[in-house]
Amino acid sequence: MELISSLFLSKITVLLINAIACFLAFLVYKDNPKGKINILYLIMTILMFFWIDFAYLPRLLGKKYALIGFIALKIAWFATPIFFTVLYLLTVYIIGKRQKYRILSDVVVFFGILSSFFTISSNCVLKGMHFIGNIVVIEYGPCMLSFLLTISFIIIAILFLIFHKESLSKETVQHFTIGVLIFCFANIVFNIILPILFHESRFYFIGDYSILILLMFTAYGILKYSLFNIKIVTTEILVFSIWVVLLVEVLTSNNWKEKGLEIILLILIVILGVLLVRSVKREICAREKMERIAKQLRKANRELKKLDAAKSEFISITSHQLRTPLTVIKGYVSMMLEGVFGKVGKELKVPLKRVYESNERLISLVEDFLNISRIESGRLRFEFEECHLEDLVESVVEELRSNATKKGLSLRFHKEPAISPLVKVDKEKIRQVIMNLVDNAIKYTKKGSVTLFLYSHKNKLRFCVVDTGIGISSDDKALLFKKFSRGHRGRKTDATSVGLGLYIAKKIVKAHKGKIWAESRGGNKGSRFCFEIPIVRNKESGIRNNF
Ligand code: ADP
Repeated sequence: MELISSLFLSKITVLLINAIACFLAFLVYKDNPKGKINILYLIMTILMFFWIDFAYLPRLLGKKYALIGFIALKIAWFATPIFFTVLYLLTVYIIGKRQKYRILSDVVVFFGILSSFFTISSNCVLKGMHFIGNIVVIEYGPCMLSFLLTISFIIIAILFLIFHKESLSKETVQHFTIGVLIFCFANIVFNIILPILFHESRFYFIGDYSILILLMFTAYGILKYSLFNIKIVTTEILVFSIWVVLLVEVLTSNNWKEKGLEIILLILIVILGVLLVRSVKREICAREKMERIAKQLRKANRELKKLDAAKSEFISITSHQLRTPLTVIKGYVSMMLEGVFGKVGKELKVPLKRVYESNERLISLVEDFLNISRIESGRLRFEFEECHLEDLVESVVEELRSNATKKGLSLRFHKEPAISPLVKVDKEKIRQVIMNLVDNAIKYTKKGSVTLFLYSHKNKLRFCVVDTGIGISSDDKALLFKKFSRGHRGRKTDATSVGLGLYIAKKIVKAHKGKIWAESRGGNKGSRFCFEIPIVRNKESGIRNNF
């Protein structure tokens, strides 16, 4: 404390406060010269100079100029209530509640200004001043209490605004709040409570100088989003300072030779400085642009995710709702075909069969949609069990044989060896994959054959469907296993295709730690679709793989 109160150190402290406050005010004002908050900040800083510097003058001037010192002190005290009034207005602007607190604002402004003018125009608040050694002792007038009450009232109004705000989420408000709290606390304790209740006014400087903390936090809050601008300003100041130093050097140099060299150096530094500032500006502009774009992208991404979730929910709900009536139609049509409701004539049987088939297509489509929504929401569950795949393949062949025969295609199944190694699969789901591959092969083959192979290959069991159909172009190949992707040729061949089967198949095979792929030598050259999954136990070797 001794150190701080020593004249030298206090001079440095006041100088430092002035320099920092000047710099911050310059930054804040330059950031947006027309912004109300920025202008209020500037006014607040100017008032701070009056408060801090004029309150310090009596100490600096000493006993000799006591009268001037006293006038300076009065100016400082005059500035104080106005400072708090401006701080109040800044709070109103920062929390954005100008309309709501109009009456309170009028009262604060009225009492703030009244108190200021009362202080400067009479001796009612400040009666006089004398020195004890180097220490300035202030003589308070009878209205001192009302002066302090006015300041306390404005502080309470500021705190009320801050705490009455529903949320302090905005970062500017958060930083401002911290600054105000520290400043108000320091002022209440060191400038009001201690002098009045304990007659201790030696620590007034803590209250006064805490103003810097308020200014720093507020400036940070205001400038948070334009820190890039600060970089430009700092570079400009730095470059400008170097120019000034060099210019002073040139002007003060006596030696003409030296002067000449320094002038050349100055010109070079000026050019380099201009280039540096320009490049910093360019870089910062580019960065700001990137920031803006990244912000827009983040927003677009959030909205897309929301949209995607809404779409998935829509698909899930509609699919569930569609499934029940379709199953009812299936049941009734099949009962009609079986003659449960009376004999069905030949003329009616054909259209009824068509209804049945179309209904089956719809059911499988709805099932695909349900699977998609399960996959996307992570609700696709698997029940793994050990089994031989040939049984599944054979059941699919039986089911689809009539389709192949109708198109005049030969449908064959080759397996090697006769009993394939054991695999651990979700039977229902793997059957769905096999079904999709064989069904596609029949669908996209006009003549020739569809041949199925089941064999083991390097600890994996591989299933392939080879057809002599429309084949796959290299463009289509890249998209085959994507959602809703229908090959160009496939679209022409089968208009009812939706492009979900292979996407679901890939997800299912992946869940079995396997892989699925397609091969084709091009259009009309047939294709080969395969998937392979790990073998659990080989019949011959009896070796178990970890799966
Ligand atoms: P869908 O058959 O309902 O369109 P898929 O996901 O099963 O859906 O198939 C996606 C696309 O892959 C098909 O539209 C088709 O173009 C192509 N495709 C699938 N299997 C074959 C095949 N065996 N031969 C040629 N193209 C095929």
